[in-house]
Amino acid sequence: MAPAVKPIPLNRAIAPFFVGVDLGGTSTKIGLVDDLGRPVCQPQEFPTAVEDVPEQLVARVAEVINQMIQTSGLESTEIARVGLGCPGILDLHTGVMVNPTNFPGWGGFPIREALADRSGMPVVMANDASAAAYGELWIGSGRGFRSLVLLTLGTGVGCGAIIGDVIIEGEHGHGTECGHILIDPSDTAPVCSCGQRGHLEAFASATAVVRRAREKIAAGEAPLLAEKVSNGEKLSPLLLAKLAEAGDQPSLDLILETARYLGLGIVTLLHTFDPSGLLLGGAMTFGGDKSPVGRRFLERIREEVRRRAFAALANKVAIRFAALGGDAGFIGAAGIARLHHRRYR
Ligand SMILES: [Zn+2]
Repeated sequence: MAPAVKPIPLNRAIAPFFVGVDLGGTSTKIGLVDDLGRPVCQPQEFPTAVEDVPEQLVARVAEVINQMIQTSGLESTEIARVGLGCPGILDLHTGVMVNPTNFPGWGGFPIREALADRSGMPVVMANDASAAAYGELWIGSGRGFRSLVLLTLGTGVGCGAIIGDVIIEGEHGHGTECGHILIDPSDTAPVCSCGQRGHLEAFASATAVVRRAREKIAAGEAPLLAEKVSNGEKLSPLLLAKLAEAGDQPSLDLILETARYLGLGIVTLLHTFDPSGLLLGGAMTFGGDKSPVGRRFLERIREEVRRRAFAALANKVAIRFAALGGDAGFIGAAGIARLHHRRYR
């Protein structure tokens, strides 16, 4: 996939420079940005796996960072900080991964210190969802906002929040788990990935959308979808978007129903945070701004919010798609490293 943000030539960049690392369960992305958040070279991405040994992965990350600095024509002394975005529950005070669900067995690993030792540079650790939110606030579709909430729609529903320039990390390293706010208190509500019933993620993640689509197929209410799936196509939000785009009403209904559930969750987020903006990112945006279906999805969310939130909040908040795609994580991690550098240098 082409990078969301094009690198600029080094002679136009403004020092100091920051490395951003977005450590993920399936891949790790690393980039190098200037003081304005502009990448100065192509980001590097490599697959990561649950069976990776933490020390080896850190060594690989350090190697890629050092290679990237060299090939971009910089000296390592010109790098002020490395920002490291990590998944799961983190102890940000000690730099330790506490309960990384994507990396079982890594609990207790002092990843911040390990990367600092290997790379020879100071490392700032952040929650990966907070990093993505900060990336959007810094140079993405939340640029100019003082506060925003980013919901990332994928297998689950992730969330990062920055309020009044403060990154919400929480007392216990959970960040903001807004995918798990309750939108249905009934005992028969669908079960979330966390095991509880009625959470937003159980309605608005890709997993939930596929489950509802399967139910619709079983009830005989989505004949075209049923036909595509029986012909071997993968039942996914992407397929729904494709069929909805071609005029299939059941597929569009599933997408707009998802928007309504998201609207319910977003109302609570607006009443809790009163942010300048609420952004929707991740893999499941049904084509985003570029597609009529994506735009209807977004409009349906806004409609539900207008119907249920305080009018003053609903009228002022900007609800839009995120802009940086898969680059938000590393750019935001670099941005958080920059905040740290400006505060403590
Ligand atoms: Zn949950």
